[in-house]
Amino acid sequence: MSVLKYIDKVLKQTAKSSPGQVEFYQAAEEVLHSLKPLLERETKYDEYNILERIVVPERTIIFRVSWVDDNGIIQTNLGYRVQFNSAIGPYKGGLRFHPSVNLGIIKFLGFEQIFKNSLTGLNIGGGKGGSNFDPKGKSENEIMRFCQSFMVELSRYIGERRDVPAGDIGVGGRELGFMFGQYKKLTGTFEGILTGKGLNWGGSLGRTEATGFGSVYFAEHILNKYGDSLKGKTCAVSGSGNVATYTIQKLLDLDALPVTCSDSQGTIYHKSGIDLEALKAVKEIGRKRLTEYVKLCPDAEYIPLSKYPKDGHVCWHIPCDCAFPSATQNELTLTDAKALVKNGCKLVNEGANMPSTPEAIEYLKAHKVLFGPAKAANAGGVATSQLEMSQNASMSNWSFAEVDAKLHSIMKNIFNISYETAKEYGCDGDLLVGANIAGFKKVADSMIDQGSV
Ligand code: GLU
Repeated sequence: MSVLKYIDKVLKQTAKSSPGQVEFYQAAEEVLHSLKPLLERETKYDEYNILERIVVPERTIIFRVSWVDDNGIIQTNLGYRVQFNSAIGPYKGGLRFHPSVNLGIIKFLGFEQIFKNSLTGLNIGGGKGGSNFDPKGKSENEIMRFCQSFMVELSRYIGERRDVPAGDIGVGGRELGFMFGQYKKLTGTFEGILTGKGLNWGGSLGRTEATGFGSVYFAEHILNKYGDSLKGKTCAVSGSGNVATYTIQKLLDLDALPVTCSDSQGTIYHKSGIDLEALKAVKEIGRKRLTEYVKLCPDAEYIPLSKYPKDGHVCWHIPCDCAFPSATQNELTLTDAKALVKNGCKLVNEGANMPSTPEAIEYLKAHKVLFGPAKAANAGGVATSQLEMSQNASMSNWSFAEVDAKLHSIMKNIFNISYETAKEYGCDGDLLVGANIAGFKKVADSMIDQGSV
């Protein structure tokens, strides 16, 4: 069977067995198609039915999370944990609490995590979980009760050598704290079963900053390869959560000029540069909307959703040299890619998971825009989670500088392996293909070693 036929056969099976899971299908299609040059050279992956196996999670857990709101009413949400692949280590990946969460979203994130985690060079398998619970507008007590109820069920399936969840959209230090406390109460053990923990109770310095810092380190490596750097570059950043905030901080450190950030209601355009302290005061500390940012920085412009271009995000229509989509999936569309190219953007570096649509990626590629794919560019967060696991296992604490230096070298290795693999397979400069092939090979070869499991 030709390679294309093999890929199409597996994708057809995937579509049939996962109806309606559009994001998962999108992620599977991207990875499988990018493996073509590898599969043409190596027949063993076909012989061992690796593609058929790798698109199916080892285990999918869906559970009810009932909790009592502040009015004494019992509310019910869905909880998920998809343990996708443990060929190279215990399942590892975040928990997302957002109303858009469904099985297809968690499966896409878990699937991406397999290859991302493999690319870090560390021994971590791929998993993801979450809930359609919406933390927005909930009181602290409601969030606590939800997290405790969620952990009652999740605690049956996790463990420091089994499955180690972390944060993602809607899950940060506060939520992880409530979940960790509940796990401890249920099991009577103090174990590193989550990462992103508080610094007083087993967390690692540098974990909070890691995804954003890592994303910027990755972008800098790309630009350096082409004789350029971030210094003096105008950068558009979307989002205003953990990834976006620390992307902005590192861009400022490197003398770049981040001019935008956004939340689900609107975008800030601050031409003289985002004020990091104001952003942190509004979002990290205040947990408020970005409309508050303009009260602190009156020279910044607030662009509400109603002024966004049709089928696009206004962030990508503001002239920039480099774009850092750091909010959520499919937030950078073909319309946006066209605007970026028109305005002379040189680099798109994905801080979020799968933020660019396939059509956008194709257009950017065709117009020679440098592209840092998510699995590589945002791997710094999960890599630093593994550093946290490592410190927990040895009961030690490393300094911020030590963790940051390790993160730096991990991002450099990810860049090098993605770049070199693309070259080896005849796709020079295509980091997406390079990252997917490199991430896949390590996992697939381990699956072959481990037999028909
Ligand atoms: N949610 C993050 C990601 O998408 C971090 C996962 C982790 O630290 O386990 O990679």
